[in-house]
Amino acid sequence: MNGKTALITGGASGIGYAIAEAFARAGANFVIADLDPAAAEAALKKLQTIGPAGAFVAGDVSSPQDTHRMVDATIARFGRLDVLVNNAGLQFVSPVVEFPEERWNQLIGVILTGTFLCTKYALPHMISRKWGRVINIASLHGQVASPFKAAYISAKHGVLGFTKVVALEVAAHNITCNAICPAYVRTPLVEKQIEDQARRHGISPDEVVSKIMLEPAAIRRLLEPEEVAAMALYLCSDAASGITGAALNIDLGWTAH
Ligand code: NAD
Repeated sequence: MNGKTALITGGASGIGYAIAEAFARAGANFVIADLDPAAAEAALKKLQTIGPAGAFVAGDVSSPQDTHRMVDATIARFGRLDVLVNNAGLQFVSPVVEFPEERWNQLIGVILTGTFLCTKYALPHMISRKWGRVINIASLHGQVASPFKAAYISAKHGVLGFTKVVALEVAAHNITCNAICPAYVRTPLVEKQIEDQARRHGISPDEVVSKIMLEPAAIRRLLEPEEVAAMALYLCSDAASGITGAALNIDLGWTAH
């Protein structure tokens, strides 16, 4: 990825951070766009020791103004935008009948509208250079459902539809658009869910993972963020230039049933 520039939303933590690290090791410049300036600064400090220059833009991906600014800042700093990783996300757990409307709107806004906005503003820069990669970090929960996660699962299913539309619209410009669908990955987002469930059920965190979270999976372990980053890196390679509109599962055998 020498000479290429990637914009990674939610890059201060978890999967986004691992992708920034993998891209930096592969020689790409990168911009982390995130809500959390303190975490982003800490991430940049760690990444400085690895490879080419990185930068941080503060902002909320659900805001049109902020996403426009994220893309503009990337162009201002590095003069190009070759790869967009739509990764920013959050979870909220509640039965549908109690699901707060503002939480529904927030999750749809960040996960689905945020993916749309960043892609909308990034694509013209990829089209002008006749090369690009849009990588949407969807979820296994873009393919199948679990109870109590209505907004997250609806948004992630929407991301898979959006991925296919973008793939069709920009294929002629040598741009691919794909989604990665991981099962549970060891990140702060999931560690919080494990702690909450261990407390609620009075069992150990290991039991939450093996008996509750990964009960439908064939391989009963959490994924590591680096496993998702490796797939993102592969999607940027020439070898993956024929893959577009795809939803690539890293699902521990969950959907093999
Ligand atoms: P994380 O909480 O570790 O990191 C998410 C990052 O996104 C944080 O740095 C946060 O500040 C940022 N963010 C949140 N809302 C934002 C907003 N509105 N604008 C900009 N930045 C924002 O989470 P993670 O587990 O690394 O998740 C990353 C992505 O991967 C999410 O889209 C998540 O749905 C998806 N995913 C995670 C898992 C998992 O098990 N961890 C599985 C499948 C998919």
